[in-house]
Amino acid sequence: MIFNQLADVESLYIHWPFCPYKCHFCPFVALANHDEYMEQYHQALKKEIILYGNYAGSKRIKTIFFGGGTPSTYPPNLLLDMFGILKDTFTLEDGCEITLEVNPGTVNLEKINAWKAAGITRLSIGVQSLNNTILSSLNRHQKAQDVFSLLESAHAHFQVLSVDLILGLPGISTQEWQELIYAAILWPIKHISVYFLTVHEDTPLYYGVARKKIILPTDDTMIATYQWTVDTLLGNGFDQYEVSNFARRGFESRHNTVYWKRLPYKGFGLGACSFDGASRFQNEKNLMRYLNTVESADTMENLAGLSVMAETLTEHQAWIEELMLGLRQKNGVSWQMIHAKLSGEKCAAFTEKVQEFIMLGHMSGNSDRFWLTPSGRAIENEIVVALL
Ligand code: SF4
Repeated sequence: MIFNQLADVESLYIHWPFCPYKCHFCPFVALANHDEYMEQYHQALKKEIILYGNYAGSKRIKTIFFGGGTPSTYPPNLLLDMFGILKDTFTLEDGCEITLEVNPGTVNLEKINAWKAAGITRLSIGVQSLNNTILSSLNRHQKAQDVFSLLESAHAHFQVLSVDLILGLPGISTQEWQELIYAAILWPIKHISVYFLTVHEDTPLYYGVARKKIILPTDDTMIATYQWTVDTLLGNGFDQYEVSNFARRGFESRHNTVYWKRLPYKGFGLGACSFDGASRFQNEKNLMRYLNTVESADTMENLAGLSVMAETLTEHQAWIEELMLGLRQKNGVSWQMIHAKLSGEKCAAFTEKVQEFIMLGHMSGNSDRFWLTPSGRAIENEIVVALL
């Protein structure tokens, strides 16, 4: 199976897998101690992009996201070269949202200038916590001072600064978390993502928790802290437009919205995912195999072997996914979508459950749509299970 060239792609994802270290909680395709492959990988990325451009034509692009890994370790000269290829291969629309993920400990003025010159509009900064000791115990060697310096030097140059925070890191007290949120409200940022710490199998965090060497906060503590966070951010001018995402009005992430609306996007690089509107693909996750496959390819067809995963959801699976993604967003789910998929008793039972959640205060709605309230967002998974 190969990515459908007719897919109406307006968004690109570019994966930069290199990291200065491997954080103990990290589930991503991320490589520490592989910096000697950066240049070779960059050449392969370029080739993958050019072959796609030759195959699909010059698409008009509205959003680009450099994720990782740690894209802020992309050498500035190579990154500028990458932008040359992107501009030659695609038509970048005026106002194209271009995001770069940044690890605060990996930034200097030369990079900030290069990012600005390249046309990056948005930095997504992995703050996670300001507790140097806890971060270091999780093998993330980043200092609070790195965050402050970055915010100070970057805020005049980019339209949007966003920060990622992790709720539920072991050893972070409620008071410390609250101080972080109060600090973030005063930062010159337009967007905050708050993610619950997730324990992924086969990570050092997973084994630490399994051996009871690392004690995580209880679910009740996490939910209460999340609820406090939502209330505090809403009370300070941030809009919660998705379960984990808050923005000053008008500064919502357009790229992530593409994922949540199940619109097509094309990913390039190690382990990168793509979606053509019907099927989802994931690239090879082994660096050597990725490099070998791309280097020996001359056409997009030759790159078919790059996909280690390709799945096409059934209509019913796609509907469930649409429902789940819709519930995570502020605008919720349209009744039209429900009525198109459910009829008779099934539709009546579904409607009854939604009414029950509305009575309990976990949902709200009108004749067009229904959505989760803040209390519903805290138990989103339970609600999805009940509805299905
Ligand atoms: S910096 Fe990010 S991508 Fe790299 S290891 Fe840490 S969490 Fe993973």
